[in-house]
Amino acid sequence: MSVEYFSTPIEFVRGVGPQRAEILQKELSVFSIGDLLSHFPFRYEDRSEIKTIRELKETDVYVQVCGKLGRLEINGTGQARRITANITDSTGRLELIWFKGISYLEKSLKPGNNYLVFGRISEFKGRLNMAHPEMDLVDGPLKINGKGLVPVYPLTDGMRKRFLDNKFMNQIVRNAITSKDFQPKETLPEPLIKELKFPDRKWALQTIHMPDNEANLNLAENRFKFEEFFYLQLRYLQLKNNRNKNIRGPVFEIVGDFFHRFYEKHLPFELTDAQKKVLKEIRKDMGTGRQMNRLLQGDVGSGKTIVALLSMLIAADNGFQSCLMAPTEILAAQHFYVLRELLEHMNISVVLLTGSTTKKIRNAILENLKSGEIQILIGTHALLESDVEFQNLGFVVIDEQHRFGVAQRARLWQKGQITPHVLVMTATPIPRTLALTVYGDLDVSTIDKLPAGRKPITTVLRHENTRPLIMQFLKEEIHKGRQIYIVFPLIEDSAKLELKSLMTGYDIIAEYLPPPQYKYSMLHGRLKSDEKDSEMQKFKNHQTDIMVATTVIEVGVNVPNATVMVIENAERFGLSQLHQLRGRVGRGGEQSYCVLVSGNKLSAPARKRLKTMTETTDGFKIAQVDLELRGPGDMDGTRQSGLLDLKIADIRRDEKWLVLARKFAEATLESDPLFMKAENELIRMEMAKIPHRTVWSKIS
Ligand code: ADP
Ligand code: MG
Repeated sequence: MSVEYFSTPIEFVRGVGPQRAEILQKELSVFSIGDLLSHFPFRYEDRSEIKTIRELKETDVYVQVCGKLGRLEINGTGQARRITANITDSTGRLELIWFKGISYLEKSLKPGNNYLVFGRISEFKGRLNMAHPEMDLVDGPLKINGKGLVPVYPLTDGMRKRFLDNKFMNQIVRNAITSKDFQPKETLPEPLIKELKFPDRKWALQTIHMPDNEANLNLAENRFKFEEFFYLQLRYLQLKNNRNKNIRGPVFEIVGDFFHRFYEKHLPFELTDAQKKVLKEIRKDMGTGRQMNRLLQGDVGSGKTIVALLSMLIAADNGFQSCLMAPTEILAAQHFYVLRELLEHMNISVVLLTGSTTKKIRNAILENLKSGEIQILIGTHALLESDVEFQNLGFVVIDEQHRFGVAQRARLWQKGQITPHVLVMTATPIPRTLALTVYGDLDVSTIDKLPAGRKPITTVLRHENTRPLIMQFLKEEIHKGRQIYIVFPLIEDSAKLELKSLMTGYDIIAEYLPPPQYKYSMLHGRLKSDEKDSEMQKFKNHQTDIMVATTVIEVGVNVPNATVMVIENAERFGLSQLHQLRGRVGRGGEQSYCVLVSGNKLSAPARKRLKTMTETTDGFKIAQVDLELRGPGDMDGTRQSGLLDLKIADIRRDEKWLVLARKFAEATLESDPLFMKAENELIRMEMAKIPHRTVWSKIS
């Protein structure tokens, strides 16, 4: 009976009918009663307070009053047509006004009756009024305790246009829930519900749609949040287990000569414990024959590159080729120079391939790649071209993975004859919770400590008009032998404008630090690739003191003698970008500085971003704030994923439930991988319902 009830077409709910059903289907994909009841409110309005009209203030936002509706007056024609009316309580009178839905309102509002009126207060010509208030007819005596907590449902413009508003949603949900046929089945196993002290599903559904108080609402919400995460994690973990069983990766059985020789003779520093730990995790994975899919997180400057290099040497020890893909030519080139230098005495072949590699060299590279002569290939998107063929690609490293589109990664993944091991590295630290959700079927390794001896970067926020002082400070640093970055915001879609603003900025700076006494490098989007390269190299070799650049230097660039990062118009940068830029300094033993130069007007989020930067250098904290400011759907790369369409859980607030759900999902799969135990029957049924969705492991 109850199953049938939940699959009943939505049109049969009292108050819906065929026409409205069509709108609900089109706008919300709500087809059945079951769909309707899993369309959860996204917030609740506390409508328990009723104000008197006299106490209303212009600064009130949403308020509720209760009183008698006066005569409706309809004025104007066409666009200007409007209804006005007054509502009167024992303390005063408030004007109400509507510009839309006039004929409907004219029919439905009943002057002379009492109404509960809810809406936003505004001021017009010195008088308060309320535009487009929500009107509830009050039967019987005037209410004193309002409507309590009122669910607010996600709606679309298409619905509002046809007058399917929140009140309508509340009404039909209520009709569906109060039916005697509403007998929902449980979807979580009994023992789990007991252990976590969750309410049963029926109570929880009633409460989430018609809460009687805050405490009960929380109980219901928590249950659904857990449930959502639980099934998501079960799905991820199942995929991961399947992959472990079914997809074989190359077996890197030995750790051989390349690795040992490099480790003992050429490694320029002692690895940090964090690096050793991660390397061990990678080695273990690659030795088993299961295909590795690992996300390596580590804050900027934490030393991910060397971990990648050592892993590539293990691949070489086992006779496999590796490639390292970076998002920009500058970064690819830098990786190439760094690795080539480190491997100088190693008799291993390292090659760079980018979009600007000449045709002749490219052809030679392609040939040597196919014959297996090249062991390590470094490059940009150029690696993805279909004629780039390996003899036996065994290991793929993707640096700064958040900058690559999903499809691009898929192409690289397909280049091996057997599926290569994949290590994706990111310095845009994804908070652990998000990593579990979005990359739930990847393994995550984290380098959580910077190499010893680094001094925390001092970050200050300075206003434009203190420029003379800023410049004086730069001068002193240069005289100490240090180097400086000055970064200007990228002007979107216009390389010409970008260059212009960069030149204007340069002119101002050059007044204080005049060339040729002070030597400049300049980097921007309009330079050719080899010009960029040579500017970068000059700075790297300390032939220049100051690098003036747009954000092309954002990721990965490594010049340890540079100690000051000046970010102009810092308010125009995103938080993770600011953090990346700051990460360009503080890479040597000297005290380093980041100077955020801001203009006059700061929006509230901009102020919060800059303040956060001055308060912490912890990339994970910064990522957390970034997430709060932007919302998860906005995170790089996650938007395309479509994996974050959570109904009720919010990864920003509900970390606790996510972690718990993960734990229970792991335990369940461990003890009963196919959900064959009687107590897991409900899980088996639920899992059979979840539609197949895009899977990240396949594409990362
Ligand atoms: P990121 O993780 O941001 O890619 P890099 O790999 O570029 O960081 O490393 C940053 C700098 O730290 C480089 O100059 C690198 O040589 C240095 N480095 C890496 N590991 C160590 C270590 N264990 N001890 C000292 N310096 C290190
Ligand atoms: Mg890096």
